[in-house]
Amino acid sequence: MPSNKINKKKIKKSGPKGKQILSPKGMHDVLPEEAQARDKLYKVAKDVLEFYGFGKIETPIVENAELFSRTVGESTDIVEKEMYAVRSRGKEHLVMRPEMTASVVRSYLEHGLHRLPQPQFLYYIGPAFRHENPQAGRYRQFWQIGAEVLGGESDPIYDAQIIIAFSRLLGELKLKNLIVGINSIGGTADRQNYKKKLLEHYRLHNKEICKDCMRRMKTNPLRLLDCKSRSCQNIIDEAPSVLDHLSSPSKAHFKSVLEFLDEAGIPYVLKPRLVRGLDYYNKTVFEIFTEDDEKGELSLVGGGRYDYLAEILGRRSVAGVGAAMGVERVLEAAKERDPSFGTPRSKKRVYLIHIGDLAKRKSISLLEEFREAHLPIIGNLGKTSLSNQLEAADKAGATLALILGQKEVFEEDIIIRDMKTGAQETIPLKKAVKEIKKRLK
Ligand code: AMP
Repeated sequence: MPSNKINKKKIKKSGPKGKQILSPKGMHDVLPEEAQARDKLYKVAKDVLEFYGFGKIETPIVENAELFSRTVGESTDIVEKEMYAVRSRGKEHLVMRPEMTASVVRSYLEHGLHRLPQPQFLYYIGPAFRHENPQAGRYRQFWQIGAEVLGGESDPIYDAQIIIAFSRLLGELKLKNLIVGINSIGGTADRQNYKKKLLEHYRLHNKEICKDCMRRMKTNPLRLLDCKSRSCQNIIDEAPSVLDHLSSPSKAHFKSVLEFLDEAGIPYVLKPRLVRGLDYYNKTVFEIFTEDDEKGELSLVGGGRYDYLAEILGRRSVAGVGAAMGVERVLEAAKERDPSFGTPRSKKRVYLIHIGDLAKRKSISLLEEFREAHLPIIGNLGKTSLSNQLEAADKAGATLALILGQKEVFEEDIIIRDMKTGAQETIPLKKAVKEIKKRLK
């Protein structure tokens, strides 16, 4: 975990004459153009997930560290190395959330949502924080859109419905060539059994294993299958498959999930090496890639079933399945497909140009009059020259300009200029709103 000790010397140095202060490594500002694309993505996600019956939930960005160490797993990279600790005045050990499933389950238990009709369908949109090595598609602050089905039976239909909802969501964004990579890691007993077999296999290759995997053998054997080191690839290829070690109920569950996906026409590939990095999963685990991503191993969506998570939190047994989608990765894919993704189609806009102080003062109330009538008017009252303002109107893509000069203020008139043809006409000021409304139709 990175140190959160505040370095007073550093803070002093970065005063007015110190080094320029930049955003923290791996964390990014969202400027207006990207904000528009994000808003569009959030809107599509909200529409699709609410259509599928999910209700929105918001949980705090900061949580007790134990929430994640107990559920995501003490020996996972996320908990071991990637959590941001928060320095607070209290004695609590708080962290910035590295993911949101554990938070949603905590909230479900805390607020007695199990007393409502089951299962509960919940979705969230928000930032998560992991102290990873930043690279393309991997950031330290990233946003996730997630959905969880909590309570009721551990029914494979919900696994399929989560996958269907996210496939639909990516489909609505017109992302093509989507692949669902899917696997089952079975129940607790299946996994114990499988881990033994996996370790037997790895012991045969003791000399070829990378350093990290030596450690994983002791701390988290399933993660052996995630290793990217070249020396371990052959060992992974020859490793026993978890699918051959499933109990009959786990097998039946997995078979049903696949049948439901077939029925819904969702293509998938079996990925017997897919285990996912978090300890709380059982039975189904999956990721959604686009065909191109598959080579780079950057998934757009990751999820799975977690029937033991609530119990780990020490309260009650609650069936659960869910997934989270990475906002930045999906936006990148959407922009690659359509560079204008999220750019609003040009509205017919009116630009108000003023000349002189009197016109400037009058423009304040005129702008408000237009806004009250819900007409899309813009203007920059800080500019003074006519040519500057005409140029700004042009850049803003305005179709009409209204020009208010000294003479017009005295005579209570205003000029309407067609920005395309340059044609101008003078109309009475009090008719301006009505006239523009007519022309914008
Ligand atoms: P996970 O919570 O690890 O299952 O990840 C779910 C999804 O969140 C992934 O499929 C990615 O799209 C996204 N994601 C996870 N980690 C990062 C990261 N460090 N930077 C950007 N996106 C991420």
